[in-house]
Amino acid sequence: MYDIIVIGAGHAGVEAALAATRLGSKTLLLTINLDSVAMLACNPSIGGTGKGHLVREIDALGGQMGLLADSVTLQSKMLNKAKGPAVHSLRIQADKYQYHDTTKRLLEEEPGLTLRQAEVEALTFKDGRLSGVMARGGLHFEAKSVIIASGTYLRSKVFIGHEVIDIGPAGLKNTKKLSAQLEELGFELMRFKTGTPARIHADSLDYSELTLHPGDEEIVPFSFMNDKLEIDQIDCYLGYSNLTTHQLIQDNIEHSAMYSGNIEGTGARYCPSIEDKITRFADKDRHQFFLEPEGLKTKELYVQGMSSSLPESVQEAFLKTMDGMKAVEVLRPGYAIEYDCINPNQLKLSLESKLVEHLFFAGQVNGSSGYEEAAAQGLMAGINAHRKLQDEEPIVLKRDQAYIGVLIDDLVTKGADEPFRMMTSRCEYRLVLRQDNADIRLTPIGREVGLVSDERWERFQAKQAIREAELQRIETTNLKMDQINPLLESIGETPVNENVSIKNLLKRSKVDYALLGPIDQTRGDIPPEVLSGIEVEVKYKGYIDKQLKQIERFQSLESKLIPEDIDYHSISGLRIEARQKLADRRPENLGQASRISGVNPADLSVLLIYLETKRRV
Ligand SMILES: Cc1cc2nc3c(=O)[nH]c(=O)nc-3n(C[C@H](O)[C@H](O)[C@H](O)COP(=O)(O)OP(=O)(O)OC[C@H]3O[C@@H](n4cnc5c(N)ncnc54)[C@H](O)[C@@H]3O)c2cc1C
Repeated sequence: MYDIIVIGAGHAGVEAALAATRLGSKTLLLTINLDSVAMLACNPSIGGTGKGHLVREIDALGGQMGLLADSVTLQSKMLNKAKGPAVHSLRIQADKYQYHDTTKRLLEEEPGLTLRQAEVEALTFKDGRLSGVMARGGLHFEAKSVIIASGTYLRSKVFIGHEVIDIGPAGLKNTKKLSAQLEELGFELMRFKTGTPARIHADSLDYSELTLHPGDEEIVPFSFMNDKLEIDQIDCYLGYSNLTTHQLIQDNIEHSAMYSGNIEGTGARYCPSIEDKITRFADKDRHQFFLEPEGLKTKELYVQGMSSSLPESVQEAFLKTMDGMKAVEVLRPGYAIEYDCINPNQLKLSLESKLVEHLFFAGQVNGSSGYEEAAAQGLMAGINAHRKLQDEEPIVLKRDQAYIGVLIDDLVTKGADEPFRMMTSRCEYRLVLRQDNADIRLTPIGREVGLVSDERWERFQAKQAIREAELQRIETTNLKMDQINPLLESIGETPVNENVSIKNLLKRSKVDYALLGPIDQTRGDIPPEVLSGIEVEVKYKGYIDKQLKQIERFQSLESKLIPEDIDYHSISGLRIEARQKLADRRPENLGQASRISGVNPADLSVLLIYLETKRRV
């Protein structure tokens, strides 16, 4: 008898199982194939715009992905550095084989967690309550709660040209029976698709025709538990398609699974195949690709940007039209995959399903796309499945607290009509929810939940003490005018006519800690991330304060809870469309109600008055 069973050891299942176990639930993690634990099925990279924020938030809460990513980093880059701090995002090239090995070993050694290879075919019920799962071969495992993290495997099919193969990703076995049962239970299933490019041999390229793409000199680790990463970074390479490539693909477009009508699933707008790019951006005479190493012990390179489901021979032919690739050797063809997922508007903000108590869903099965999105949901599902068993309130991170909050709120409140990918543009409070301050925002919550270890907590408190002291110091420490002015003149800044506090100097856009270093004698040994965080807080104070005001307004609506048993059809003044949408989605508070399409401000006022009247009665 287990407390929690997690179905699927992908990125969602791993975080869910570790969180539930570390919080004290006796957990069983079942997965079709132990050799695909935490498989990076697509790009061998972790992070990126918006996704890097999720990884840092998972780490700050006491999750695992940040530490795993740091341990397998091959190359690291802080993206969007030329833009504002709100969109700075960490992205690493990861050794995907090492990622799998390290994660599997961690699961095998986690006290209180049982890892087992088995394919779950059905949920079981006793007296109408969820009671466990039935696996292939009639194995029955009992549990009080189940988390489904089945990824891209539910009734999945792989497409290469006109070929349709009844398998899961990377040639692995798919799973069929669970989908049928979910439909019987009343879940609305959707058909989504995604795709991946070919893998090629690193020794079959002409690097003189490609552009070197190195990592950053200074590496910022994903995990707040790591001060720095000392690795010999390996390079990626940049190349471009050309008009010959485009013509060849155009001439064969009807043989692409995406364009032959074979595929019915909906794909991600933000991960287009090369066929999509040629069709949607026909005016462009070239599209870039990046060659990303899959691991230290393999010659396989991932051709980022060239995802395709054209026949293998056509894939090989179009790759060979591009500079640097004329003699390319294809090791694995690209393909498209179609799979079942549920519409996430059937979930509560805790990721528990509205239809079956103690049944949670996490990851790609919720209509999201990406390792990071999956891991974030897995962490929250693991925490909340455990807390539900302890009769504790679920942890629901809000849109003003975390990208994880935006991710889950968007999925659950708006549903998904295509694979949902996290981006900074989805986050209205992104200047406050930066990747560098994820620990300040979330580690206290992780500590309260019970996932943040003593070591991490002490480290966090020590860092906060340094930060507080430094904020104090720059406020009260003045630098001498005659020392400042030569520095200001050296960067073309207006000189000052009196001694000025460090803080006031840092408010200037071109002045930073590095510039003031030579004259700032009282500065202690402060971690670079604390210094850069303080620079942002000082320079963007006006914008941050404005965003904090918006957050106050947001919180006032979020704090207006809606009773679970409310009867929207009895509320006069509510428009019919709003009644139907609200009755269908059953939002948990007025803020969530305001984000349901079809519910307009007039409906919200009617609802607010209704709730106020009810509250006073
Ligand atoms: C071909 C391909 C291309 C992709 N392209 C992109 C992309 O371009 N951008 C992007 O962001 N993401 C992409 N992804 C998605 C990315 O891989 C997923 O988002 C991520 O892996 C989802 O994590 P997950 O934990 O939800 O599921 P997965 O990583 O898919 O793991 C699910 C796990 O559940 C197990 N499982 C499933 N059913 C059962 C069952 N019944 N019983 C027991 N175990 C079960 C499986 O064996 C697997 O281990 C792609 C994925 C694939 C396959």
